[in-house]
Amino acid sequence: MQELSHWINGKHVKGTSGRFADVFNPATGEVQARVPLASKAELDAAVEAAAAAQPKWAATNPQKRGRVMMALVNLINRDMEKLAEALSREHGKTIPDAKGDIQRGLEVIEYCIGAAQMLKGEFTDSAGPGIDMYSMRQPVGVAAGITPFNFPAMIPLWKMGPALACGNAFILKPSERDPSVPLMLAELCKEAGLPDGVLQVVNGDKESVDAILDNPTIAAVGFVGSTPIAEYIYTRGCANGKRVQCFGGAKNHMIIMPDADLDLAADALVGAGYGAAGERCMAISVAVPVGDATADALIERLIPRIEKLKVGPYTAGNDVDYGPVVTAAAKQNILKLVQSGVDQGAKLVVDGRNFALQGYEDGFFVGPHLFDHVTPDMDIYKKEIFGPVLSTVRAASYEEALGLAMDHEYGNGTAIFTRDGDAARDFANRVNIGMVGINVPIPVPLAYHTFGGWKKSGFGDLNQHGPDAFRFYTRTKTITTRWPSGIKEGSAFNFKAMD
Ligand code: NAD
Repeated sequence: MQELSHWINGKHVKGTSGRFADVFNPATGEVQARVPLASKAELDAAVEAAAAAQPKWAATNPQKRGRVMMALVNLINRDMEKLAEALSREHGKTIPDAKGDIQRGLEVIEYCIGAAQMLKGEFTDSAGPGIDMYSMRQPVGVAAGITPFNFPAMIPLWKMGPALACGNAFILKPSERDPSVPLMLAELCKEAGLPDGVLQVVNGDKESVDAILDNPTIAAVGFVGSTPIAEYIYTRGCANGKRVQCFGGAKNHMIIMPDADLDLAADALVGAGYGAAGERCMAISVAVPVGDATADALIERLIPRIEKLKVGPYTAGNDVDYGPVVTAAAKQNILKLVQSGVDQGAKLVVDGRNFALQGYEDGFFVGPHLFDHVTPDMDIYKKEIFGPVLSTVRAASYEEALGLAMDHEYGNGTAIFTRDGDAARDFANRVNIGMVGINVPIPVPLAYHTFGGWKKSGFGDLNQHGPDAFRFYTRTKTITTRWPSGIKEGSAFNFKAMD
């Protein structure tokens, strides 16, 4: 069986802790590799080496760092097929989805080519007599990123790109469920010209995460994953004096107004609810039609579309709409929640519980489910299911629909489908959620805007990618200068208003 490694000082390094995790092929249920789980000592050594490599990288001018990003873009494009295949094999998503995962990460690397522009400081000429003042952005030093299984290319790239472009060294701790693509990306970074040691990939679990949180050399930590872990990392990292940003779970509502184009809304719901087996933090998991007539017409359109979905392995090519979920435990959890929905009185109008795929009996496939008449007290409404399950909550009015989205503890993304500009504008202004779509079901902002949820979906005050990423991975220093010709007789350097 293949034994994966860490990536330290520009090469693959075997784990020495003696601990490993199995990496599955979710389509077959087979263990295809094992990944080493780093000890605290291994993590600390990787950080020490990163800290040694960082000053030279920070002293490399930002345009040259941008060129490394440009080379990385070209190399990722060159290896797109290979990366997508490796990604699908460990994650289970279809090849087009895997390419989308890589592409959305790549776009952030493209954005980072402009590091020199992003890192320009501010300057005030003659702030006082002979006094000039300027601010500059300096890298934080060593930063770390802890990433989830569901976007094994995109989220590592969102983290490492801006951190490296800013002149930091970076420790990536990817998900232990699908670690191969992050390791391949590290190889490509080296080929693109990134000096050894500046990027370290340390595989692991809680032990290495805790070591990151407690290591005094690491100045900033970015996390993406489930909310309980996000809260834990935010609290422990902040208590240790680090800059921390954590992005957590989601329960994204889509409101369908009576005037909406219902065919468009139904198509959008199927793509956003079931794509990637519902394992997207921006998946729509709750449909909120306004009025019973809208609800009935929507359900009538959804059922045939959902029943037509093709579930299968990525190797079946374009015939497949979505693949298996990531582990047997994830599958069990989804089916348990579906059963709770039935027990608590929701109406299961598309029942995927008995889904089976010939030849793939041991794969982690879950059939599509659609619930109607879900109420806010049910577990399927309160909890993140992270599977191919869409819940319909009927609202009597727009205000009730808006209230549902606002009262939910998560606040990652949301959408409204309507032809009414007033309703759309009101929704965008009032809703307490980080990313909003108007007739767009998955409103993931592009690389040059920022990505981040509110409430229990985001902790910390800066978002991912876009200008916020350059703020998160740098510290501002402000310098006040006065040269002899500006020093007048008797003028003092004391604390007073400038003349
Ligand atoms: P997870 O929280 O289980 O794992 C995320 C990372 O944390 C992994 O690297 C894992 O090794 C580590 N980890 C797990 N348990 C830990 C523990 N007890 N202590 C310390 N570290 C631990 O999340 P996941 O299952 O990999 O990913 C799915 C979750 O991520 C979903 O909740 C999804 O909504 C969320 N997500 C959020 C966003 C966002 O931007 N808000 C994006 C993608 C995924």
